[in-house]
Amino acid sequence: MAPDPGLVYHGAPERGLKMGLAIAEKRMPPTRKIDALLPLQELDLAIHRLRVRRDELPRKLAGVEEKVARAKTSLDAVAAEIKALKLEAAKRESSVKEFDDRILKLTVQANQARKNDEYQVFLKEISGAKAEKSRIEDGQLDLLYQVDEKAKLEKLRVEDLKSAEQEHAVEKRKIEAEIAELDGQIAAAEGNRPGLTGGVDREILAAYDRILAAKDDGLAIAPVGKYDVIEDEGKATYWQCEGCNVGITSQDLNVLLLGKDVLCCRNCSRILYAKAPEKK
Ligand SMILES: [Zn+2]
Repeated sequence: MAPDPGLVYHGAPERGLKMGLAIAEKRMPPTRKIDALLPLQELDLAIHRLRVRRDELPRKLAGVEEKVARAKTSLDAVAAEIKALKLEAAKRESSVKEFDDRILKLTVQANQARKNDEYQVFLKEISGAKAEKSRIEDGQLDLLYQVDEKAKLEKLRVEDLKSAEQEHAVEKRKIEAEIAELDGQIAAAEGNRPGLTGGVDREILAAYDRILAAKDDGLAIAPVGKYDVIEDEGKATYWQCEGCNVGITSQDLNVLLLGKDVLCCRNCSRILYAKAPEKK
């Protein structure tokens, strides 16, 4: 990322400041307030990583949960088809009964007919009713055959659902065990926290905790990085917060190197610290 020229510390035009920094680096107190935060941050980062792993675990179940839901939907669909077919079969059965009654009634009427042409009309009606009844009965056989076939399919789908549910139960137990294991590790790590917070200035600790709670990467402190860029005027030195890669003003850098005050990044709010100067 290109540094913001408004925020950077240029080596060449500010030689005086650079010399001042060299003095500040030498004057950097051997134990800075910030140093007590480093092991605490290391522990909190480890806790953060454990929590991330823990929180990802329930999502692993989503795949098998979906499989169970799909198997359930397929089973419900075939059950609904069977229900509709049976309903249709029942309708046809009652229809067949109606035709039987009608045929019986017509037969009685035909037998009571006084004239031959009247008798022939009844016979024709009886024959029509019988043909219609037979058509319905044929359809009925086809329906019952379909119900049988769908029932076979339903059986397979019941098996599918059962195996999906079993897979889900196995996976759930496995994930619950992993969660319990990680919870144990998190609790153990948190148990180590008081031993590390004790040495931190109370105000600094409060700020640190506040920043940590607001960050989703588990980092409340950030080192300040130094890098050189070759420009037209020669080598220029830039400083930036390594938490967000935004440049640090020379003024802020000075404060930081003096080590008396705690400084936060103007962009990401993390507590800044200078890495120990490199030994030459
Ligand atoms: Zn920053």
